Amino acid sequence: MTGPTTFADARASFDAARFVVLGIPFDRTTSFRPGARFGPDSIRQHSWNFESYDLETGVDLAEVPVHDLGNTEEFGSATEMVRSVREEIRPIYRKGKIPIVLGGDHACAPPSVEAYPEGAPSLGILYLDAHLDFRASYLGDDRSHACSSRRMLEKVGAENIVVFGVRSVSKEEIEDNKAIGMSFVTAHEVARDGIRASVDRALRSLKTERVYISLDIDVIDPAYAGATGTPEPFGLSARDVKLAIDAAAPRLAGLDIMEVSPPFDQGNTSALAARLAREAIARVAASDTAR
Ligand code: MN
Ligand code: MN
Repeated sequence: MTGPTTFADARASFDAARFVVLGIPFDRTTSFRPGARFGPDSIRQHSWNFESYDLETGVDLAEVPVHDLGNTEEFGSATEMVRSVREEIRPIYRKGKIPIVLGGDHACAPPSVEAYPEGAPSLGILYLDAHLDFRASYLGDDRSHACSSRRMLEKVGAENIVVFGVRSVSKEEIEDNKAIGMSFVTAHEVARDGIRASVDRALRSLKTERVYISLDIDVIDPAYAGATGTPEPFGLSARDVKLAIDAAAPRLAGLDIMEVSPPFDQGNTSALAARLAREAIARVAASDTAR
């Protein structure tokens, strides 16, 4: 594999782009095994693996205007990272574009939600994760990746976020959430009810005009996406997550893909992350055309 490159087919200028890719090479809050800071470049490299023509939608991704901003600088702390990422993301929304944010550990995701402008169409969050990420603070850091759904909830309100694919929580998180009432769908419920019904229910519960997807790659079973900081068995399939993205695409405000950890990757996790970003772009482009 060669050195850093742009995301596949990202040839448009910022002004002309509908989608804007930003990488955040930051994994300082990773609790178990670091490596996600190499995620953005690995996902970019693998994104060139695919044909640009999308069989399902008929969209040719080479014709969709995508701009790649490259990576942010490297940060010494999550607080610095958050402040800087908010500033980088804000103009993307203001100009009516869709950010595609590549992490990094999941601490990199909340600033992309926090940057969403006041007065823009209402925003809900589909938070795909094996974990609840609902700690008020973790190891003394309220910007830890273990707190990310909670930080997003503070921006959009408890009724406008649903965590999907969960199968690992602490008792404290469950106790805390009794008072707060964030909804979540477990991976076990998805297995029981089927992915389509589960996704439809989750998306219907978000009464907002737009939906932001925060994708922690560990929501997917380690059999498909083992290269991540905290792999968790009994996950969703790769196709389940594709279906969730497809279903949310007509309302998509932004997408992040977090926690891909290349040091543990034989290439399949990065390729899957890249393909899911490509799916989102194709689906949104198809729904733009239909509008
Ligand atoms: Mn997470
Ligand atoms: Mn997770």
